[in-house]
Amino acid sequence: MVDFYTGSMRKRKPLVEDVQSFAQNIVDTVREPLLILDATLRVRSANRAFYQTFQVSPEETEDRLIYELGNGQWDIPALRTLLEDIIPQKSVFNDFELEHDFPIIGCKVMLLNARKLRQGDHTEFLVLAMEDVTERRRAERLLADIETYAQNIVDTVREPLLMLDPTLRVRSANRAFYQTFHVSPEETEGQLIYELGNGQWDIPALRTLLDDIVPQRSVFNDYELEHDFPAIGQRVMLLNARELRAGNHTEMLVLAMEDVTERRRIRDLEIRYTEELQESYRRLQELEKLRDDLTNMIIHDLRTPVTSIIWSMQALKGVGVLDEVQRQMVGIAIRGGETLLGMINDLLDVEKMESGLMQLDYAVLDAAELVASAAGQVAPLSESKRLTFVRHIATDLPPFRGDEDKLRRILVNLLGNGIKFTSAGGTLTIEVRVADNKQSLLFSVSDTGEGIPSEAFEHIFEKFSQVESRRGGRMMSTGLGLAFCKLAIRAHGGHIGVESVLGEGSKFFFTIPLG
Ligand code: ADP
Repeated sequence: MVDFYTGSMRKRKPLVEDVQSFAQNIVDTVREPLLILDATLRVRSANRAFYQTFQVSPEETEDRLIYELGNGQWDIPALRTLLEDIIPQKSVFNDFELEHDFPIIGCKVMLLNARKLRQGDHTEFLVLAMEDVTERRRAERLLADIETYAQNIVDTVREPLLMLDPTLRVRSANRAFYQTFHVSPEETEGQLIYELGNGQWDIPALRTLLDDIVPQRSVFNDYELEHDFPAIGQRVMLLNARELRAGNHTEMLVLAMEDVTERRRIRDLEIRYTEELQESYRRLQELEKLRDDLTNMIIHDLRTPVTSIIWSMQALKGVGVLDEVQRQMVGIAIRGGETLLGMINDLLDVEKMESGLMQLDYAVLDAAELVASAAGQVAPLSESKRLTFVRHIATDLPPFRGDEDKLRRILVNLLGNGIKFTSAGGTLTIEVRVADNKQSLLFSVSDTGEGIPSEAFEHIFEKFSQVESRRGGRMMSTGLGLAFCKLAIRAHGGHIGVESVLGEGSKFFFTIPLG
């Protein structure tokens, strides 16, 4: 045990000694290193924590000048200033931070606190308490580094972020927040979220969210908030929040706000267009059904009366009591009826082929004969338009199997179209040869007519379709000819295609397998 006082004091009464030892015991229990200095800055005593911390013994400490302690390890300019200049004037100082590289214990940060004590006999003492805050400072620095690091990360996030304390005051915000809402850190940090930007965030829905939902669930995801913000206008924000907790209590609330206005607008448009599309599709289906019903009606209900009309007209013509004008008129009526019947038959054929009801009537055929008979049918038409009709029929064509009637109708259709869409004086060419792969016969019908735009190549083979710009005005067109050709060629196992240059002409070609 170390005495507080000088040798002369040891001669005092036992009671005083008890008090001294009591005081020393208190000093010893203090966990911070303590030095008791006299007015000349000599160590009167030190406590156990001091000896342990600085790894020195009472012998090398007591009665020494503080600056001589441990090979002058306390001879620090900052401490000298403190003890010699500040203390004599103020008699107390708190939390003086001293960073020093001590020989044995290394670099430490000490927090010094001093009190001047005066004894009854006017002896002055100085109690110097030194708290080792090296670890605390290191942790604080680390924390500051982490905070800077976190802030840097937060700043790189492209979504606006707000860091709120538990009272909903803004601790910090990121760059994206300032940019998006056109506000500065000065008018943001330290403010209650509801006060920000003239109360632009004081939104009832957000209040409910932050005041009621967050405290219970500590998180919310994708809360959609639509609001008219003063600086940036009507926006839809997707809010996400997380509570950052330390132990049991909330440290911070991170509020991320993603501007999804554009995305919502596109989604709304998508929904609207999809609905419109569905509606159009529904109407189209209705129209298609109407067309099919009408087609069926035409096929089944018109065919018989039209056939009867033609027969009756033919019978009338045969009676022989008609004059010339009457005969001509009956003739016109018969031709009109036959055209009508032809169109009805086309419809019937297409419908039968589509539903798989049409059987092919196979026979062994000769291509040259087939072309000759088709050409014969269209010859009057082509002559009336003064077209040059060229035929290139290879001489070595093998016989092949096919439905003669259907194949002739295909050729008549293609030739008829060629004539129809070529101006007077043009050229119509029909060619037949064995295809390069020797597996099929290749037929082609070319003209020097108006041509077909490439975007129509596909759909002219669908029933009722015609090149858009030419719809009007063509009275005898049904848009069924090519649909019939395609279905009939497919039924034979072949395929049909078209090449065309607008203003120069078109070439339709199809294959019929050999053998
Ligand atoms: P239709 O001739 O009765 O209209 P098609 O199915 O035979 O029906 O033909 C469909 C459409 O394809 C025609 O209306 C026409 O627009 C186009 N077309 C067919 N052949 C030719 C051709 N040789 N030249 C130009 N256009 C053609």
